[in-house]
Amino acid sequence: MSVYLDNAATTKPCAEAVAAAVAAMTENFGNPSSLHRAGLEAQLAVDSARKIIAGTLGALPENIIFTSGATESNNLALRGATAAYGKKRRKIVASSVEHASVEETLAALEASGFTVERISPREDGKFYSADFLSACGEDTVLLTMMLVNNETGHILPVKETFTAVKKRFPHIITHTDCVQGYMKLPIKAKSLCADLISLSAHKIHGVKGVGALYIAKGVRVLPIVTGGKQEKGIRSGTESVPLIAAFGAAAEKLSPTISERWERVTGLRAHLLEELAKIPGVSVNSPEEGSPYVVNISAAGKRSEIMLHFLESKGIYVSSGSACSKGQQSGVLGQFGVTGKLADSALRISMTAETTEEELDRFCQALAEGTEKVRG
Ligand code: PLP
Repeated sequence: MSVYLDNAATTKPCAEAVAAAVAAMTENFGNPSSLHRAGLEAQLAVDSARKIIAGTLGALPENIIFTSGATESNNLALRGATAAYGKKRRKIVASSVEHASVEETLAALEASGFTVERISPREDGKFYSADFLSACGEDTVLLTMMLVNNETGHILPVKETFTAVKKRFPHIITHTDCVQGYMKLPIKAKSLCADLISLSAHKIHGVKGVGALYIAKGVRVLPIVTGGKQEKGIRSGTESVPLIAAFGAAAEKLSPTISERWERVTGLRAHLLEELAKIPGVSVNSPEEGSPYVVNISAAGKRSEIMLHFLESKGIYVSSGSACSKGQQSGVLGQFGVTGKLADSALRISMTAETTEEELDRFCQALAEGTEKVRG
């Protein structure tokens, strides 16, 4: 049996999500835009998922736009909001550790004439809301910062920052990529002071290829995909009913157990750290106060990819850095002070509440063996 410890890359769809997707493909396969009964039933399935997702954020169904995933949600948020509000205000403030789907979009906006100020963590590895606040001004159109970093599990002070920024500069649009925090931390749109929130289904035991963008009431986001005016004209294209239904089913299943699962995974992380401490040369890059779901380590100067394949040969799946960068370093670890050999030997272990101590023990045994056997 293999040990899957790469849940920040993707999770296994839960039975409820699979059943919902299958039902939407076999029984309920209409187009939600069709005016007949089959279309209406598909529309009802989409509406039901929209209500569930909205409810989990303390929002209303009309705040939720379904997309093809968080990459698209992030693009829609950044491009759509700057298109709506960025004629005169040309500055964007962002954290320096965003996922590629935000960072690459920021680079494209920079190329089109926006200025982007990236805020780094301080020497203690922490982000401070005062640093974001002092970068914001009358000329700022948008502030974007992720809630939980996908490579290290760092939790950014989104609520504190957005609250302070909105108080001083109510015109600034606030966006947060909550992909690695959703269904792990309680996220309420209003209390976060967020105008825009990106979510992805496949990180919460849904299916790949669907996500959502929460848009606060009154906030304008211009479409980046135009066509048949589905999703209030903000995201044209026939809704993927099976994937959306699966997304709703996964969120419905997970939302009642957010704090229990956090506690359980915190216990798993404690066990993992205890076992890792016994292996010479292994150091931990994730902060103690971060998300327990993600543990980033450096393994005795052994190159990540080589160690990753050694572990794979033992049936154990982890990631080097983030899965989206396919082994390429994203620079995020460097932002947190992890550089040189430590960065080159970084591995990311990411868990779910179903992960077991036995699986973590198997990983640690294999890692210990790898630190002895693997060459550089
Ligand atoms: N944002 C973060 C923080 C992520 O971890 C990911 C996926 O790795 C994404 C965005 C992209 O999500 P999707 O795969 O749904 O496009």
